[in-house]
Amino acid sequence: METYESLLGAVRADDGIPVIDPATGEVFAHAPASTPDDLERAIAAARAAQPAWAALSDQERRAALTAAADEVEANQEALAQLIAREQGKPLSGPGARFEAGAVVAWLRATIATELEPEVVVDDGQAKATVYYRPIGLVGAIGPWNWPAMIATWQYAPALRMGNAVVMKPSEHTPLSVLATAHLVNRHLPEGLLTVLAGDRDLGEALTGHPAFGKIMFTGSARTGQAIMRASADNLTRLTLELGGNDPGIVLPDVDPKAIAEGLFWGAFINTGQTCAALKRLYVHEDVYDDVVRELVAVAGAMPMGSGVDEANVLGPLTTEQQFGIVDRLVEEAKAAGGRVLLGGEPDRDAKGWFYPATLVDGIGDDAGLVAEEQFGPALPILRWSDVDDVVERANRGEAGLGASVWSSDPARAREVAARIQAGSVWINSHGTIHPMAPFGGVKGSGFGLEFGVEGLKAVAVPQVIHG
Ligand code: NAD
Repeated sequence: METYESLLGAVRADDGIPVIDPATGEVFAHAPASTPDDLERAIAAARAAQPAWAALSDQERRAALTAAADEVEANQEALAQLIAREQGKPLSGPGARFEAGAVVAWLRATIATELEPEVVVDDGQAKATVYYRPIGLVGAIGPWNWPAMIATWQYAPALRMGNAVVMKPSEHTPLSVLATAHLVNRHLPEGLLTVLAGDRDLGEALTGHPAFGKIMFTGSARTGQAIMRASADNLTRLTLELGGNDPGIVLPDVDPKAIAEGLFWGAFINTGQTCAALKRLYVHEDVYDDVVRELVAVAGAMPMGSGVDEANVLGPLTTEQQFGIVDRLVEEAKAAGGRVLLGGEPDRDAKGWFYPATLVDGIGDDAGLVAEEQFGPALPILRWSDVDDVVERANRGEAGLGASVWSSDPARAREVAARIQAGSVWINSHGTIHPMAPFGGVKGSGFGLEFGVEGLKAVAVPQVIHG
């Protein structure tokens, strides 16, 4: 069984990419910095390994991946300890242990999902069947907010469908992904899954490389656009999971006390650094004061601090840059006359990039804190009175990842949900993803689906056999 120290020891380097513990702001380890030559070697190894992997039966691939899932599960605590130090999310609450558990859960769900050939025509005269074949080599690029979990969303279905994978994690959180692959690779053929730590330059080399039949990308919209441009010449298939600015709409029939904790975690999971987190809260005027009061009470009671301290459920921002974005948006909101209901005053002399849980109201939809993705622990609360108007406000902007509707009448909530432009709409929760429910954005949040049967199809090429 791995300890945190042994797992870190297996993936760290003496020099290379400095990895910072965001709770202290200090470098705690280095990751090996991969070069363009390493990318070429990884591609060659993947090309060598993939045909034999694809030639295995689906059952054989599932067996190898099951052994990999067992391996991660047996070493889940060590992985969680590494995630907590590198990314900052606390071990406790829906944090680092939750993420390490999600790696196992998504592996197992990906293994369990059935994708049968589909007979689409069989009328006595013609027969046509759709089969899903391996693409070959899949490239994957990931963000820093849920590094190990999101990497698993990428490599697990790609491997299951008979592909080889080369991944480039975020330069801020390479160790969690290297460690996950280190465990998984104990049960996979050599060269099938390679993780290369590097920055944007390595990402550009990967996305422009003709060896890849598909790129799976999770990250910002701006990078998604760059990847689409870089992959155009090769006509590389893409799944783009980009940023969100999810609205939550609270209808007047809610019980404010009953929904307050759900609203809190919907917005503040991973200290707000979650793609499909609640990022703008629209509350009906009839329940406005009560919802605000309950939310302030819940948020004000949540302990924040170092992720490795079991007492905490909120951690630091992962990067200094993200701290700066949240700080700027809150300061702008204050300058625009916003009312800070909670937080809003970080200790700028403290070690680490801690920004307190912050609730702000009294600003308009055009304020940066509402119109931009804050990706941190500062939630704007806005008042509404007319349902058509709030739906129009919720649909403003480029993003279309998630949304939520809160009501004691699920049928009424579903009516409102149907009018929102988002890939996922939750009723009385927010961001509660499920490995069998397809997940993906619309509008500027990207395209392509992950999870479940749709997720398997996304890392395969369809072939129709007539006859
Ligand atoms: P980012 O776009 O800055 O970086 C993501 C990855 O892309 C990193 O590995 C980075 O090195 C790489 N990269 C940067 N420029 C590149 C280029 N030109 N070519 C190729 N690769 C390049 O995103 P981030 O700051 O790490 O992540 C935060 C963003 O990700 C937020 O917008 C968040 O909403 C989004 N996100 C979306 C989802 C989703 O499922 N939709 C999930 C998590 C995060």
